[in-house]
Amino acid sequence: MSVTVSATLAVNEALVRRRRQGLPVLPMGFGEAGLPVIPVMRDALAAGGGQNAYGPVAGLRELREAAAGYWRRRNLETDPDQVVAGPGSKPLLYALLLGIGGDVAIAAPSWVSYAAQTQLVGHRPLFVPTLPAQGGVPDPGLLAEAVTRARSDGRDVRAVIVTSPDNPTGTVASRGTVRRLARVARELDLVVVSDEIYRDLVHDPATVVHSPAEFAPERTVVTTGLSKSLALGGWRIGVARLPEGDIGRRLRADLLGVASEIWSSPAGPVQRAAAYAFGEPAEITDSIARSRRLHGIVARAVADRFAAVGATVVAPQAAFYLYPDFESWRGFLAADHGVTTGRGLAGLLLERYGMGVLPAVEFGEDAGALRMRVATSLLYGDTEAQRHTALAAGD
Ligand code: PLP
Repeated sequence: MSVTVSATLAVNEALVRRRRQGLPVLPMGFGEAGLPVIPVMRDALAAGGGQNAYGPVAGLRELREAAAGYWRRRNLETDPDQVVAGPGSKPLLYALLLGIGGDVAIAAPSWVSYAAQTQLVGHRPLFVPTLPAQGGVPDPGLLAEAVTRARSDGRDVRAVIVTSPDNPTGTVASRGTVRRLARVARELDLVVVSDEIYRDLVHDPATVVHSPAEFAPERTVVTTGLSKSLALGGWRIGVARLPEGDIGRRLRADLLGVASEIWSSPAGPVQRAAAYAFGEPAEITDSIARSRRLHGIVARAVADRFAAVGATVVAPQAAFYLYPDFESWRGFLAADHGVTTGRGLAGLLLERYGMGVLPAVEFGEDAGALRMRVATSLLYGDTEAQRHTALAAGD
């Protein structure tokens, strides 16, 4: 099969080329907070520097215990043996999909890599629309219909991926929606893969995030990591929480099999530092709270600016994404610029202003829709000093 570079990485590469040519860039495609590494994490990484041996495939016990504690504090009773660490949640998701071994229902829109990974492991994504302002979770009623229809057409649909808080819409699904989704998954015997990488980045701490693991614990795998909450994407560390029981045992065995052949174990020093972070001392929770506030301020400000120029944009509740719809620009874009698709608009913005954004089609939505994802992160600075200033502004 042919494998193309992920859409987010491709936009980033286009921006790097522009920067080399001395042209202005506004990187709004790559999903990263762009904040500095906080000093306690630098120290924690240095403290783990002696960790040079290959570690256990499932991850260091210290990290698995800390991650279990993290989930317990979120009302998900977890044994360290249910936890598997990997070099980022992305490879963990890939390994899980490989083990699941069938077609996967995915919200439309949803993060670019779910569909790509499903195809990489030889299966097909089944896109299911979401409810308004509740991105990341397929509409449970439509999910039931879509899976039933696909199965009657001979497709082997085995799992559904859920992302709340969501990339690309920045919204959080309600308790009712998550509960209904879990019920449908149980009725249809689907594994639920709940990607909770943005869980700690809700802008308002009063917003409660619900996990399908609360309602269908026997079939829900949860993944998370430090890439977003602590802006440590480049450290490549993630953790998966597998369910107890038969489904969990099967998934764990498959996951460890893939991990043992592909990454052996995540980097030791990073695991030690991650164990510290998942222990959630005050330095960590304070830093995440600042980042959360900062992203709330920036996301709201940018959403207001988009609304002012005629875009429709759902108020973001978490993370650093917006998903404005430029449908009202359709006539003007076609007449003045010959642009008729979201991809065309993204190309125009890149060429004219160096704006790196992703069109809706990358997220599994109608190719004609004029939408884009916007990571607001780098709006507030490109140098480390500017990032420190920005973080302080979150106080
Ligand atoms: N899941 C979602 C929804 C994401 O947006 C991203 C990063 O963009 C990831 C997972 C990847 O996380 P990690 O750095 O842990 O591989």
